[in-house]
Amino acid sequence: MFRNQMIDIRIENIVKNFGNVTALDKINLHVNAGELFFLLGPSGCGKTTLLRLLAGFYQPDEGKIFFGEKEVSSLPPHKRKTGMVFQSYALWPHMTVAQNVAFGLQQKKLPSKEIKEKVEEALVSVRMEPYASRKPNELSGGQQQRVALARALAVRPKCLLLDEPLSNLDAKLRVEMRTEIRRICKEFQLTTIYVTHDQTEALSIADRIAIFSKGHVEQIGNPLEVYKRPNNQFVAHFLGETNFIPGTVVSTKDNEVYVKTAIGDYRGLWHLKAAVPNAGENVILSIRPEALRLKPYGSSENSTDGMIGQTTYYGEVAHYDFIKNGVTLRISELNPRHIDHSLQRGLFANVVTEDVVVLPFERA
Ligand code: ATP
Repeated sequence: MFRNQMIDIRIENIVKNFGNVTALDKINLHVNAGELFFLLGPSGCGKTTLLRLLAGFYQPDEGKIFFGEKEVSSLPPHKRKTGMVFQSYALWPHMTVAQNVAFGLQQKKLPSKEIKEKVEEALVSVRMEPYASRKPNELSGGQQQRVALARALAVRPKCLLLDEPLSNLDAKLRVEMRTEIRRICKEFQLTTIYVTHDQTEALSIADRIAIFSKGHVEQIGNPLEVYKRPNNQFVAHFLGETNFIPGTVVSTKDNEVYVKTAIGDYRGLWHLKAAVPNAGENVILSIRPEALRLKPYGSSENSTDGMIGQTTYYGEVAHYDFIKNGVTLRISELNPRHIDHSLQRGLFANVVTEDVVVLPFERA
C-alpha cells in the first residue's frame, strides 16, 4: 500500500461569478494535510463550483489556491494531480473494471508492468479485485462507485475531490460506503474534499465541515462543534431539527445568558466570538428536540409545563409536539415512553443549560 505525500490546501479570497450570479464570494479555507474535509450546504450554495475550481475545470475571478506550497490557481486540470469522483461514476461502459482503472495510467504512458501493479493495488484497496474482468453493467451501484474510487486512487493523486459520490446509492449502501470512503482516505493518507448536501453523511465521517450558504462559508468546525454550537440560525437549522425560541436577555454572567421567553425563563450559553448580548436585547434560543426531556416534574428555569399534542412513533424514537402558550416545541425521545395519549397532561419539558444555545436575533 502506498502512502501519499500529504499536502494541505489553502483557498484564499476566492471569488467566482457566472454573469451576474456570484457563486462564491471571498472564500477562505485551510484544509489540513490528510484531512477529510466536507463542503456542506443546500443546492446552489456554490460547493460544486469550489470543487471544480480545485480540480482546475474553472478559473477563479479573484483569489488563489495552493496545494502545499505550490500555487495552482491557473494550472490546467491534468497538471494538478487531483483524483475526482463524481455522483455519476462516469465509468466507460465498454471497458472492464481493470481497464477503467488503468485508463488514467495509460494516458500517462506508464510501462505496462507498472500499470498492472497500480491497478491491482487500487482494486485491492477498494476490495474490488475479484471483479477486475467484469464490465460496469455487471456491477451494483456500490461496486461501480468503488471502481470509480479505485480509478481516482490509481493515479496517486495529491488530493481526492468527491462530488456527491453516494447520492445514486440506496440508503443502506450509502451508510456502508461512507465508512469505506473514510477508511480509504485515511489508509491512503489523502487530503480529501467531499461535497454533499446530506448533513448525516458529513456529520458521520468528516474531520471538519464547512457549511455553505449562498456563496459564503457560515461556519467551519468538527461535527460536534457545528452541531452543538451553531453560529447562527441557518447552521442550526441546516444540520438537523431544532426549536427556535425568541426571547429577551435578563442578565448575563460570563458566557451564560439568562433569557425570558413566552414559555418560561431559560439559562443558555453564548458561544460566538462577538460580545455577549446586553440585558434587554432580543436573542433566539436554539434547543435540539433530543435535548428536551419529558418528566413529571419541572423547575423554575429551563423547564416548561405543557401538553403533548401530535405524536409520531417510529419504534426506537418518538417525536412529540409539546404545546405551551401557543408555542410548539418539538421533542424527540429515544426508547419512547409517552405514546399513551392519556398521559398527555402534567408533563414538563426540561433541558440543561449546555443544550440551550443563545444566538443573535435575526429577522425571518
Ligand atoms: P448543487 O448541490 O445543486 O449541485 P451547489 O451548491 O453545488 O448546488 P453550484 O453548482 O456551485 O451549487 O452553483 C452555485 C451557483 O452558481 C448557482 O446559483 C448556480 O446556478 C450558479 N452556476 C453554477 N455553475 C454555473 C454555470 N456554469 N453557469 C452559470 N451559473 C452557474
